[in-house]
Amino acid sequence: MVLLGKKNINTIANKITIRGIIQGVGFRPFVYKIASKYSCTGWVRNTGSSVEILIEGTATNIKGFLTELTTKSPPAALIRDFVRAEVKPPGYTTFMIKESRNQKEPISISPDLALCPQCLKEFNDPANRRFKYPFINCTHCGPRFTIIQGIPYDRCKTTMSSFTMCPQCLEEYANPQDRRFHAQPNACQNCGPSLKLLDKYGQPCTENYCSLLLQGYIMAVKSLGGFHLVCDATNEKVLETLRERKSREAKPLAVMAKNLEILHKYCYVSPQEKNLLQSPQAPIVILKQKKATALPASLSPNLDTLGVMLPYTPLHHLLFDDNLELLVMTSGNRSGEPLIYNNHEAIQKLAGIADFFLLHNRPIYNRCDDSVIRVIQGIPQITRRARGFVPLPLSISPVPTDLLALGADLKNTFCLASSNKAFLSQHLGDLENCNTFLAYKKNLQHFQEYFQIKPTTLVHDLHPGYLTTQYANSLALPKIGVQHHQAHLSSCLAENNFTKEVLGLVCDGSGYGLDHHIWGFEFFSGSIGNFQRLAHLEYVPLLGGETTIQKPERMALIYLLTYCQKEGIKWVEKYLQLPPGQIALYEKLLKDSHNYVLTSSCGRLFDAVAALLGVCRTNKYEGQGPMELEALCQTDISKSYPFTISEDNTLKILSLAEMWPQIINDMERKKEPGYIAAKFHQTLVKMISKTFLILREETGLNTVALSGGTMQNMYLLHHLLETLREKGFIVLTHHKVPPNDGGISLGQAVTAGRLLSCV
Ligand SMILES: [Zn+2]
Ligand SMILES: [Zn+2]
Repeated sequence: MVLLGKKNINTIANKITIRGIIQGVGFRPFVYKIASKYSCTGWVRNTGSSVEILIEGTATNIKGFLTELTTKSPPAALIRDFVRAEVKPPGYTTFMIKESRNQKEPISISPDLALCPQCLKEFNDPANRRFKYPFINCTHCGPRFTIIQGIPYDRCKTTMSSFTMCPQCLEEYANPQDRRFHAQPNACQNCGPSLKLLDKYGQPCTENYCSLLLQGYIMAVKSLGGFHLVCDATNEKVLETLRERKSREAKPLAVMAKNLEILHKYCYVSPQEKNLLQSPQAPIVILKQKKATALPASLSPNLDTLGVMLPYTPLHHLLFDDNLELLVMTSGNRSGEPLIYNNHEAIQKLAGIADFFLLHNRPIYNRCDDSVIRVIQGIPQITRRARGFVPLPLSISPVPTDLLALGADLKNTFCLASSNKAFLSQHLGDLENCNTFLAYKKNLQHFQEYFQIKPTTLVHDLHPGYLTTQYANSLALPKIGVQHHQAHLSSCLAENNFTKEVLGLVCDGSGYGLDHHIWGFEFFSGSIGNFQRLAHLEYVPLLGGETTIQKPERMALIYLLTYCQKEGIKWVEKYLQLPPGQIALYEKLLKDSHNYVLTSSCGRLFDAVAALLGVCRTNKYEGQGPMELEALCQTDISKSYPFTISEDNTLKILSLAEMWPQIINDMERKKEPGYIAAKFHQTLVKMISKTFLILREETGLNTVALSGGTMQNMYLLHHLLETLREKGFIVLTHHKVPPNDGGISLGQAVTAGRLLSCV
């Protein structure tokens, strides 16, 4: 409370209510500062869901105040809603930050924020009392979501509660003029958390972290939302060891570069990508690798991209030195397991993988993986939504009752919806793993507590075998089932706030269809809650189920046997090195049995082409075949293979029957796999846009929405966007939630919201 001068008789006053991301990001001190600057009086307070300001001063000063308020807010703040009303001047003589007022509406919790430039400057300043302190933070940066145990957001309800601030830190914390005013994780080396280095036997040691990494050791490092396994990304040998110990044969490894300059040596970085890397969210950005780089191929085998991030905590800066500029930073877990986030578990479960453990004593309450983003045609597309974004809500059309959408089993997120807000959980992974499922349930509980949402209806996928469906069935609440691909499409419409009718395409791995077959290449028309399937890729039998999903060569076998008859066998024998019995078995099954599941999956189609070209015969991670096939594409190919679109009752069937012999023909003519891969992609672009043209003719709809895991394919999406826009379509794509199964829960929630509103 600072006295700002005598009351002026020409004063006016405004009452302002602001909603958005304004908690835990230094918004109130910012308001205080600009009020002081313009000699205004009044107050600012947090209501939980909004910030309220009463501002009093001369008209000129208030104008200046308002301009700064709306244009110069703290970097991590986001104003969504701004309401201002003139009120009678109450005659305040000071400006103060009032105590928070609790309201019943769901509150906004800030995600974790990357180290800000000011703190980095102090961190590098030998004269600063926090020189090289690995937990330096302020109101603009540091941990938030990952340390919050309860609401309202106050130090006593965070994992910092066990650290008592020293007099100096306390002074900063209590001073509204200080940039650490009410920075809940505020700390210094005298009073805050500290680091500890242990060897693989759990014994403390004093070696230098950088030299250990340089020597080729693997270190488990406790970061912001969980553990990373860290090693020198330029050391081929340690990469091999890491892959072997982690049983991660081929899946690309994310890296952290010391700074942007170093990154430029290895990857192409566009201005948008640079902004993302340096943003407070600091996600992993998927960049195109420069061809002539000296980086080990085993970082991202057979791909031309690299997932990269910049140091986002002060601790990360301590891991680099002059000789160490690129580190692998992969999730600290065993394959399939959830991210490890506490010291005890790390030592137990990462023993045998890590040689050293760099631990600290600031507990992580909510585990949170790194987010992953790529930029397509200048627009970011998030493919894993976690740190930096969660738990920010998405605005949706109001739902009539509180809902819990349970998501899909793979790449799971759940979604709690209340009123016009949807709270998506962080990426949780594949629920088949029982520890991941436990983490899922725990997270559900946390989210319900934080946002005080008590769901009265559950929403789940239609797949009866999904763990999420079974979990829904175990709970005594009304349930709504939503078809997998309709949920995908709805999530795309919801994040674009599009409520009218559209044409939609979902290209995906697999999802349970309304006819009990496995869908995955589906055209719809309609709006959220009311879709009609209009067309799909021709079904082929999905023989062998799960094994076939892991072994693309079997999918190639199915396609060739289906579409190439006698000759098919000859080619299968020539191009697919399958065990002899297998061909005969599949041939027999196809002929004799009609009892198999059918699939129109786009993922399986990519798998089959990838296997036939010898790109990927066995998927060692989800999506490997399609990703490697995309990476192979030559850039200047516009040729394509033939396709047909026919009518079956009310459905259009897209068939690639004629493509297969022609691919073989190209292979016989020794055409390069990269040529064939591009030609295959071009075929899809043409087939999809042709179908949309026909459907536009029939329905009069000109807006199309694209969703599903395959829309992560940059080559396909890029060319699709280009072609569809050329033909005059308005195209909606994903930016805020993943096109893959990580976005399903949002689609489920808005679909149920719509259905319940119509009752
Ligand atoms: Zn800071
Ligand atoms: Zn201190």
